[in-house]
Amino acid sequence: MPRPYNFSAGPATLPEAVLQQAQAEFLDRRAAGASVLELSHRGPEFMQVAEEAEADLRTLLSIPDDYAVLFLQGGATTQQALIPLNFADPGQAADYVLTGHWGATALKQAEPYVMAHIAADTSVDGYRDLPARDEWTLSGDAAYVHYTANETIHGVEFRDIPDVGDVPLIGDFSSSIAAEPLDVSRFGVIYAGAQKNLGPVGITVVIVRRDLLGRAGQPRAPILDYRAHDRAGSMLNTPPTFNWYLAGLVFKWMLAEGGVAEFARRNARKAAVLYEAIDGSGGFYRNTVAVDARSRMNVVFSLHDDGLDARFLAEAKEAGLISLKGHRVLGGMRASIYNAMPEAGALALAGFMGDFCKRNG
Ligand code: PMP
Repeated sequence: MPRPYNFSAGPATLPEAVLQQAQAEFLDRRAAGASVLELSHRGPEFMQVAEEAEADLRTLLSIPDDYAVLFLQGGATTQQALIPLNFADPGQAADYVLTGHWGATALKQAEPYVMAHIAADTSVDGYRDLPARDEWTLSGDAAYVHYTANETIHGVEFRDIPDVGDVPLIGDFSSSIAAEPLDVSRFGVIYAGAQKNLGPVGITVVIVRRDLLGRAGQPRAPILDYRAHDRAGSMLNTPPTFNWYLAGLVFKWMLAEGGVAEFARRNARKAAVLYEAIDGSGGFYRNTVAVDARSRMNVVFSLHDDGLDARFLAEAKEAGLISLKGHRVLGGMRASIYNAMPEAGALALAGFMGDFCKRNG
């Protein structure tokens, strides 16, 4: 029996080859005599895992040498609080661009520590479009500008890196990192929880331009200090070793599949097939995001009659298509199609949607 296609938004589907490798190595990895779960993070076996993971991620994302790469705990949300603590002086302004639920979350996490300034906000229109760059009101003296590259719930994605001049740009790439080639040098900080495109939940990648680590920031304990994590090689305390290892396997898998350029091509095709299924349904399915702002990673849609939702989900499950229920904030459906979702999965969903529409339209 093949496994169903899993459209979960995160934790999300992982490459089957990676799961199989982890399973094969679970009890005894490479004759270490123990599972990765049981080995010291400071032992030679795990040190090698950690070093390879960083090197592979640097290769995958073409991360310049003047950027530190941290593997941390606490998810993306914790980084949203650590960012102002590490990069803004007490009371300094920081600009936030709100294009969905997660941008608003980032603002909430930062508010205790900075003079948070909303530079743009599309909530009045239900977060269905991106604010034009020339309509943003930047503070001028801001410590940084924060935006969300891909809004996982609202299905809205920036396709270009916004130009904010010399102010460091901080991007939440939790749900779109490694989905396409990215010019890291345009950013002060890129951060991402791993549980969508990079691997399992429980580990978060923070890519930070080294000069920013020289900022004083605000009084904080070492465990909240990116500099301390950097100096300790992300092992200031016991890191989530298994999650780090699993993410490392995903990095190797992505490199072997052709890297981010190849995933960009696949992701474009997957998204196109699903948006065609929606737009070509004569109104049976709807996506109300402005076409240029539509996410390639999270395709949100609703059925014209939400009385059909339960049947859609039940029949999809029967057809081997799971986790399509939309986020409770929006309702409806959401198909998350990260790197590990095969093109056949998107095609199968589009086929099912067409068939369901015919039978119920
Ligand atoms: N930012 C984005 C874009 C997300 O999608 C999520 C999680 N879905 C978060 C932040 C929060 O991440 P975490 O649960 O890892 O704290």
